[in-house]
Amino acid sequence: MSHNPKNSRFSNAATALITSGRNPSEQFGFVNPPVYHGSTVLYPSYETIKTKQTRYGYGRRLTPTMEALQDSVADLEGGYGSKITPSGLSAITTMLLCFLRAGDHILVTDSTYRPARVFCEGMLTDLGIETTYYDPLIGDGIADLIKENTKLVYTECPGSQTMDIQDIPAIAAAAHDKGVLVSIDNTWAAGHYFKAFDHGCDISVQAGTKYLVGHSDAMLGTITVSEPLWKDFSSRFEMLGQCAGPDDIFLALRGIRTLDVRLERHMKSGLEIAQWMRERPEVLEVLHPGLAGAPGHDLWKRDFSGASGLFSLVLNPVSENAVAAFFNSLKLFGMGFSWGGFESLAIPFNPAGYRSATTWDRDGQCVRLHIGLEGVDDLKADLDQAFAAMAAAS
Ligand SMILES: *Cc1c(COP(=O)(O)O)cnc(C)c1O
Repeated sequence: MSHNPKNSRFSNAATALITSGRNPSEQFGFVNPPVYHGSTVLYPSYETIKTKQTRYGYGRRLTPTMEALQDSVADLEGGYGSKITPSGLSAITTMLLCFLRAGDHILVTDSTYRPARVFCEGMLTDLGIETTYYDPLIGDGIADLIKENTKLVYTECPGSQTMDIQDIPAIAAAAHDKGVLVSIDNTWAAGHYFKAFDHGCDISVQAGTKYLVGHSDAMLGTITVSEPLWKDFSSRFEMLGQCAGPDDIFLALRGIRTLDVRLERHMKSGLEIAQWMRERPEVLEVLHPGLAGAPGHDLWKRDFSGASGLFSLVLNPVSENAVAAFFNSLKLFGMGFSWGGFESLAIPFNPAGYRSATTWDRDGQCVRLHIGLEGVDDLKADLDQAFAAMAAAS
């Protein structure tokens, strides 16, 4: 474990969210770093452009705006250094391209974000990199799947849609024992409620699009790595030419300042609705790791310091017509992809269609909810009337 020496850690993580990536004395006293729009950086002399020994050299590589978010995210995640990409998916694919070589093998959790799977099965296969999916609940049993050429164990916690909680410390210990790296997709906890590097991860990626930006108005990704990986990672990252736009970076910097208070409200309302859902006759199962007795709760309690606003439900089996009536009746909950903004969302999903190392055997319709920052009573009323419409259509 190592930390960005430029940043200091505070006893309360909320404080670091306020101070990280800001240096008012370097910006004429203004509280926030300015948004630098820039490609060309002028060098002061022939000698400096020959040696390139300047702090900033080209807009794609580094701007003060980019640097502020990199420092802030590295501090948030507790890693050594971070790079910013134009989307969460590009953070995942760029990270994989930076760490894997032809002939390598990776182990990917069966609960991963589906487009990450598509990348492994498509482009990584074409590049001669082999993927094996594993049961997210495998724990230290991961050791049995590690081969001579295994380079990376890819985790995501909780898993997309089904919310499986992985035993990250057990997986990391088994992987490190065989010299294998461990990465996590840390989007759900936003790096705030799960400290990946303290739990054995070497690499953490996030869809900054979700809680870091927090307002559904920008796409962004982050990749954070430990100190031993930094030098090689950053030089390979540069080969790929990825850079995010300065206004989007600014929106993430702004979002990070309120991350703690937003997440607290997402957590409180999310838990209240999850608990309420448990008592509803329409609901077969609530998949929320923060709920006592729910799958993964014990590991969540051990390793996480909070829950965000995203969880899932399995409904008791009803007709497709009734499911359609439920979704079409929602007024406050919008239907759409992504999450982590201030607004509540609901989408239908079916894990049976794309899992390969595990099978999904529940019969009822699965629903993923994102609980936003609206009043929780209004959200309950909206769900209540949608359930009534579902019953009427049954
Ligand atoms: C949304 C999401 C991503 C992808 O982020 P984009 O910014 O939409 O590309 C990656 N991982 C998880 C867990 C996500 O939910």
